[in-house]
Amino acid sequence: TGPTMRIDLTGKKALVTGSTRGIGRAIAGMLAECGADVAIVGRDKAKADAVAAEVPRARGFAADVSVPAEVERLVGEVETALGGLDILVNNAGITKDNLMLRMKDDDWDAVLNANLRSAFVAIRSASRGMMKRRFGRIINITSVVGLMGNKGQANYAASKAGLVGLTKSVAKELGSRNILCNAVAPGFISTDMTDAMTPEARAALTGEIPLERLGAVQDVAGAVCWLASDLAAYVTGQVIVVDGGLAA
Ligand code: NAD
Repeated sequence: TGPTMRIDLTGKKALVTGSTRGIGRAIAGMLAECGADVAIVGRDKAKADAVAAEVPRARGFAADVSVPAEVERLVGEVETALGGLDILVNNAGITKDNLMLRMKDDDWDAVLNANLRSAFVAIRSASRGMMKRRFGRIINITSVVGLMGNKGQANYAASKAGLVGLTKSVAKELGSRNILCNAVAPGFISTDMTDAMTPEARAALTGEIPLERLGAVQDVAGAVCWLASDLAAYVTGQVIVVDGGLAA
């Protein structure tokens, strides 16, 4: 057997938005398992504190990331409480699905603000400290839907495609400061949402996936931890697709 290598994030300070449940909760947990200090963020402080109590070296914070001033306050609070910020994971996201012809302006704005503007403001806020410290890992959670499009999700797909352009632009602007910016694009991941599907709908979906199963939240978290680690020190401006081969 060859040498074993563990991802070691000891001493690194990480912020994960939308980390009170689902994929964000798994990302926060795995970053902590790898040794990082983690800021758990949700809209409800009590919920964030409850999740933080279950994760080693974690603390809870509250912010509505669709409000720019709240994102800026959040980044400042986390930098003060943790003593810096090395790893920023923009994970919070929502859907407000409808066919494009029926989609209301408000549903467009809500999804773009929660999924895309939130990441822009968080990156702009966090990158100041990262530039001073000459280290940063920014990871944006996009979706295969942002690469492929999807009926009924024009707003969501546009927000997720927007994250790809944001990721590549930030990678180019901040690369000289040793700040890496990448995206992870999950396919269909088993969460509360997909667990509610009928067996028929689930079978039809699974039939489209070469690995013949839905993804687990840990599959996404693994890609994020790798991107945050020294193993990915020469990777920036990329979209890592974690979809069981669906988009291939
Ligand atoms: P989820 O709904 O279970 O969790 C989303 C989290 O974001 C929740 O904790 C929620 O409270 C938080 N959040 C939403 N809006 C927020 C706001 N304005 N301010 C602060 N927090 C907010 O979703 P999930 O399935 O875990 O998805 C996480 C991310 O992964 C999302 O960006 C989603 O688009 C993306 N994604 C999910 C899948 C999937 O199959 N589940 C596939 C591709 C991409």
